[in-house]
Amino acid sequence: AIRERRALANDLKDAVAAGELDVFFQPQALVESREIFGYEALARWNHPHLGWVPPDTFIPIAEENGLIIQLGELVLRRACESAARWAVPHAIAVNVSAVQIGHTDLPGAVRSALADSGLSPDRLELEITETVLIDDPDRALSVLQQLKSIGVSVAMDDFGTGYSSLSSILSFSFDKIKIDRSFVKDLGDSADALAIIRAVSGLANSLGIATTAEGVETDGQLRKVHGEGCTEAQGFLFSQPAPAKEVPELLE
Ligand code: C2E
Ligand code: MG
Ligand code: MG
Repeated sequence: AIRERRALANDLKDAVAAGELDVFFQPQALVESREIFGYEALARWNHPHLGWVPPDTFIPIAEENGLIIQLGELVLRRACESAARWAVPHAIAVNVSAVQIGHTDLPGAVRSALADSGLSPDRLELEITETVLIDDPDRALSVLQQLKSIGVSVAMDDFGTGYSSLSSILSFSFDKIKIDRSFVKDLGDSADALAIIRAVSGLANSLGIATTAEGVETDGQLRKVHGEGCTEAQGFLFSQPAPAKEVPELLE
């Protein structure tokens, strides 16, 4: 297993160096009107022999060996370039790893990706997970503040799976909380999952923060998260993540 992982890490390094990673886009919609307002950029790796390797496999490897710094910048740049070409000025969300916050000049990378693509900062959102605030809160808060001052927005991703601490929500003025898809998946048969979605969106609403339900696959789930006050949704109900060239069709 170690040998396989090491081989994969080497192949990933070559792929990133050659710019062979793809970026796919998944729409995000308003719950109320079902209107698409933006997309999340998701890294995709088509390995020459193994085929598509899931991000849940290669992102942790990249975080472990530091490759996430190059990889993250590649995704950021590609996402901004694509979005700048869209006919409609929709928002674009990019995932950012704790390693990028802790060990790189992320505000500098964001400024240069915006300048080179010509994308307006108010169209870019960065998604971070709570671990960013746990590892080194002082540095994280200062970086997030710098990002805000550039004019980009910041979302908390996968909320509910980690510490889910109220202090991390209150420590920074997040623009959005994304409720992890595990709760949406369990909506059908778990009253607890519904209660958690209700509690998180209630809290977010009173703080003036938008909420996104992740992993919405059915009409029933969309109706339920709507009923609990979620403002936005993302999931296979609207579309699977798709290559950049399919974005105009998704919109139609
Ligand atoms: P995430 O940021 O929470 O992204 C959402 C994930 O949920 C994506 O998985 C997406 O394909 C999946 N998804 C969306 N709708 C549905 C649905 O209706 N049902 C189900 N079952 N799944 C749905 P993906 O693309 O496999 O990415 C997994 C994770 O890998 C992402 O979770 C994110 O944490 C990480 N990741 C992906 N790209 C990047 C990147 O460029 N940088 C960093 N740092 N992390 C990334
Ligand atoms: Mg995300
Ligand atoms: Mg997520």
